[in-house]
Amino acid sequence: MPMETITDLDLKRAGFYWREIDGVRALICAPLEDDGFTNGFSTRLGGVSPMPQAALNLAGFNEDAAENILENRRRFLKLFSGEWSLGGCWQMHGTDIRVIRDAAEAKPAENSLGDTIYCDAVVSDAKQVLAGVKTADCVPILIGDPETNSFAAVHAGWRGTYAGIVLYALERLTNEYKARTETCRVAIGPAAAACCYEVGSEVIDGFKERFPGADELFTPTREGHARIDLFKANRDQLLAAGVADDRIHTAPLCTMSRTDLFFSYRREKQLHGKVGRLMAVIGRRGEKRGTGEKGKRGKG
Ligand SMILES: [Zn+2]
Repeated sequence: MPMETITDLDLKRAGFYWREIDGVRALICAPLEDDGFTNGFSTRLGGVSPMPQAALNLAGFNEDAAENILENRRRFLKLFSGEWSLGGCWQMHGTDIRVIRDAAEAKPAENSLGDTIYCDAVVSDAKQVLAGVKTADCVPILIGDPETNSFAAVHAGWRGTYAGIVLYALERLTNEYKARTETCRVAIGPAAAACCYEVGSEVIDGFKERFPGADELFTPTREGHARIDLFKANRDQLLAAGVADDRIHTAPLCTMSRTDLFFSYRREKQLHGKVGRLMAVIGRRGEKRGTGEKGKRGKG
């Protein structure tokens, strides 16, 4: 199905809906929310950054004014009920993981605007903590375990996917909080999808060496090149680890196809010189199920 024609019904079938306040819009995974997790994948809509205009750029202090990013974050966080401390990391395309014990620990170090801890996934079970990862084409993955209230935000580009970052995050939830893989629910957010994301032979060969059945991840394009399906690659890893098929929800949205909604490094870097950053966040819901944020649902 062409990405341009994704309807709200298509989104609903996939387990997602839009939430919008004052022009700021995010994609919410409904089953993850129903399991007790505040969550959202940001869009570029409703911000103040000149990227190229009115963009909700949520990171990258070297490419945008700090006041813009902080105002955009304030607007983004307004989509979620309650008080939150946002905990992220300086992403490296690796497999290191940050554990956040409490809301105070989530905040960036004093005198630093951006994140100073180097890793590619953030896990926690603390109240009022929003674990977040930044992307612009890479795959954002949110995991929540309703039995232990533990959760993770994962950044998986092709390097992270190749390295199995989502499995490291799952393992950390298991070891740190006694989460069971079978009860975990996963939302895979908007990213460069198989319709657009072309890679070269070094990526293709690497994946084929490491993963049995990797042939299915690739659609050949020209000599030495193919489009890669990173959604499926991560989904396959989750399934192999024991996550239930019906507990993995994949957003049917490609960042490269939908630059009207999302930032895309591959589409915009050459065009504008700089590219905004999206953010995917997850935290424990403070209020009882069926109250609070559900009231905000409904914007199409
Ligand atoms: Zn696409």
